[in-house]
Amino acid sequence: MVRPRIVVVEDEPDIAEVIAYNLRRESFEVFTAPDGERGLDLVRQHLPELVLLDLMLPGMDGLEVCRQLKDDPQTSAIPIIMVTAKGDESDVVKGLDLGADDYVAKPFGSRELVARVRALLRRLPESSEAEVADNGLGVRICIGGLEIDPSRFEAKLDGQVLTFTATEFRLLHFLASHPGRVYTRERLVRETRGENVVILDRNIDVHVRAIRKKLGEDREFIHTVRGVGYRFRDPD
Ligand code: CA
Repeated sequence: MVRPRIVVVEDEPDIAEVIAYNLRRESFEVFTAPDGERGLDLVRQHLPELVLLDLMLPGMDGLEVCRQLKDDPQTSAIPIIMVTAKGDESDVVKGLDLGADDYVAKPFGSRELVARVRALLRRLPESSEAEVADNGLGVRICIGGLEIDPSRFEAKLDGQVLTFTATEFRLLHFLASHPGRVYTRERLVRETRGENVVILDRNIDVHVRAIRKKLGEDREFIHTVRGVGYRFRDPD
């Protein structure tokens, strides 16, 4: 079995050690770097399946590491989970806008960390294959009683057809295609922009509110991540 490789960039030795220990126990291959420069070297050398990136690093900070990885075609597709201090939402937003995929806030439990890593590794190959296979129309999604069929432009909840505007539909389909993953408003605008569909940044909240209303407020398909953006509920 090929073990997925993870590069951990973390300057606090105790935390790096705990992270590495927990990931190795889950049979990942782990490389650790104590600063951004060495982190970049490790990523370029090993081209891992995932990078776990502390944002507060001596010298080059995590956001700069993220920027460089996303700017380099050789490393741009490698998913990045940012590790942040609690309450650092503005850096989380910046990182997600740069192309990071997710974040965990310190202090986090090892179970939460492993779950985030697994969720991201599970998701990525599927979604990229799906994008190739369906010529941009998007994949049909079934989650928690909700069915979204982009080829028919149709959404059903418990078998009942729901009516969405084009923008709401695209937004819902995009979020549901990436369950458990957090998106900033800016990223959502970028990702759901299509022909004849113009979403203004401030309108994302309005669209999400409308979608929630149609799905039923109590169903909680779309979670608000305070200060950051939105996340579709984790897969069952
Ligand atoms: Ca740090």
